[in-house]
This record gives sequence, structure tokens and C-alpha cells, in this order.
Amino acid sequence: MIALTIAGLTVAYGDMVAVRDVSFSFATGEVFVLLGANGAGKTSILRCISGLLAARSGSVAFEDRSLNGLSPHQVAWAGISHVPEGRRIFPNLTVEENLTVSFIRRRRNDRSTVLETVYALFPRLAERRRQFGGTLSGGEQQMLAIGRALMNSPTLLMLDEPSLGLSPVLADLVFERLAAINAQGTTILLVEQNATCLELATHGVILQNGRVLLMGDHAALQDSDFVRRAYLGI
Ligand code: ATP
Repeated sequence: MIALTIAGLTVAYGDMVAVRDVSFSFATGEVFVLLGANGAGKTSILRCISGLLAARSGSVAFEDRSLNGLSPHQVAWAGISHVPEGRRIFPNLTVEENLTVSFIRRRRNDRSTVLETVYALFPRLAERRRQFGGTLSGGEQQMLAIGRALMNSPTLLMLDEPSLGLSPVLADLVFERLAAINAQGTTILLVEQNATCLELATHGVILQNGRVLLMGDHAALQDSDFVRRAYLGI
């Protein structure tokens, strides 16, 4: 089943066109990666899907339902969670409060069951459940931001550069947890500059200056000149 379809998406800020006629789609169960350098238009695409930003033209559909014109709240209800760049956790709430305020009862799940699922994925958060969010390390805050997005029991989890600012070891840990989340049945749309994320990718696109430079499966992305040169330094 097709999870998400983007068709002819163009996003502009005034005269500045950030995303130009971008189209792609992916199936339920995939880890689809949007790779690109700073300013390639990755964040703008995620914000359009989430209903945070209106597209200049084009369409976004999720499981055959158009998302055009929906509010961020309605998109969350449709089953899409967005982990924004920079995490945006609540520093003055405890870990557990950060999680519980994000709960949406979508699939007859009860809050404590979803919370236990998140703690099972991130035992560190369980250990720190009474600690204020602002006192966590960068890696723990990223885990909390992901945990918070999971409180929505999403069918599609979107993440904006979750490895940004993390050490390679912590970035690997985040990617490893994303693989576990995907293995539990959640489709993932992952925005990254960090080519390490390709290990997870089933398919993806490479964006450059708001356009699709290359679209392909895991092997095609790994083998592309662009990834070799720009990301792997060879
Ligand atoms: P980054 O990794 O820096 O987040 P990105 O690939 O996510 O980059 P976007 O944030 O979508 O790219 O930005 C795409 C282009 O749009 C950039 O040139 C950026 O400067 C511009 N842009 C983004 N937000 C705005 C805004 N609010 N007003 C004007 N221009 C913007």
C-alpha cells in the first residue's frame, strides 16, 4: 500500500523558491530518506506534509487521502508524527510529562500502554522519567523528542535531522532505534544530511537546491556519485 505521495510540490517564501516541482512516493513499511545539504528544501517539504506550511502548488496525499489544507492537528490525527529539527522538547516539564502531554488517543490505545512502549524502546527515558527535559543530554533529548512523537501511535513517523549535533556513536544509536521502530510496523520518513542514515533506507531521494537530483532504492543511493563525493568523501 502507498503510504505517502507528493506530486509536483513547489514551496516558496516570497520570491524565494525553496522546493521546485518535487514528486515522490513510498510504500507502507518503508524507511524513506530525504538526503541533501543545508538549504536543499528538506525541512520545507516536511513542514508542508505536517500542515505547518502551505505549498505554492502540488499535492500531498497520505494513504489515498489528500492532506492539502489540513491543520497540523488534523495531520497528527491522520497518523503522522513530526519530530522537528532542534527537538523542541519542553525543558521545564519532566520526561514523563513531556511524553504524556503529547498523547493522542487514536487507536483505542491507552496512555499507559503507549508510555510503556516508549520506555521499552528507550530505557534511558524510563530511568529519567522524573527529571526535567532541559537537564537531559543532547542524545537523550533526541530520544525524548522521538518518544514524544510516538505517543501519537503514528503510522508515519517523520524526523528532521535527528542526528544533528550528536556524536557518531549517539547518532548510530538513534538510527538503530529508528530501525527498531520501523521493525515494529511504523513507516519512517527521515530527513538527513548524514549519509550514515542510508543504512536504514529502503528508498529515498537526494535533493539539491529544491529539486530531486536522484531517486532510487538503497543500492542506487549508496552507489550514486553524489553520495560518494558529498557524503562519504571518496
Ligand atoms: P537545513 O538543513 O538547513 O534545514 P533544508 O534542506 O531543510 O536545510 P529548508 O530549511 O527547507 O532546507 O530551506 C530551503 C530554502 O528555503 C533555503 O534556501 C532557506 O534559506 C529558505 N527558507 C527556509 N525557510 C525560510 C523562511 N521562513 N523565509 C525565507 N526563506 C526560507
